[in-house]
Amino acid sequence: MDDRMFRNAMGKFATGVTVITTELDGEVHGMTANAFMSVSLNPKLVVISIGEKAKMLNKINESKKFAVNILADEQKEVSMMFAGQIKEKRDIEFDRLGDLPVIKDSLANISCKVYSQHVEGDHTLFIGEVTDIVLRDGEALAFYEGKYREIAKLVDVN
Ligand code: FAD
Repeated sequence: MDDRMFRNAMGKFATGVTVITTELDGEVHGMTANAFMSVSLNPKLVVISIGEKAKMLNKINESKKFAVNILADEQKEVSMMFAGQIKEKRDIEFDRLGDLPVIKDSLANISCKVYSQHVEGDHTLFIGEVTDIVLRDGEALAFYEGKYREIAKLVDVN
């Protein structure tokens, strides 16, 4: 099986889009990620998966904390910025949640401290213990088959 086939198969799993944020020595770093999942209710744990080449890896290794910002449908540009898909560097004003910087106007800001970490292949899984949450109403930005999508209307199939 080649890498393309693997990527194409994983792309069939529609996800939301998050930006992971952390702060180290007063400097904020953000990175777009869709490898995010809820893990446990008691204690409240989530997981993110960070590639070995991402600068974010060392930042979280050192700061031991991160926030997950779940993006709204009007935040496609924010995702593109933190994925390096928009090249020019822009000044971004962050909100704060406890001791972490978070992305304004996200559907959810979830602050975490690193609970455990596991190097698996070329990624590191960070399990985060949730310390605080802020929620907002709105529609989610989605990612499917390698493209950003808007969920025009959520249809109840029950
Ligand atoms: P950089 O490439 O240096 O930073 C990313 C971008 O954010 C740069 O353009 C940088 O200028 C900007 N930036 C960072 N901090 C700031 C700041 N404080 N102010 C202004 N701009 C700032 N990779 C994974 O490892 N795991 C995933 O789950 C994952 N999911 C993805 C999902 C999607 C939909 C996309 C598009 C990409 C995903 N990626 C994922 C890839 C990842 O987002 C990119 O490889 C990213 O460039 C890696 O970031 P980096 O930490 O190496 O830092």
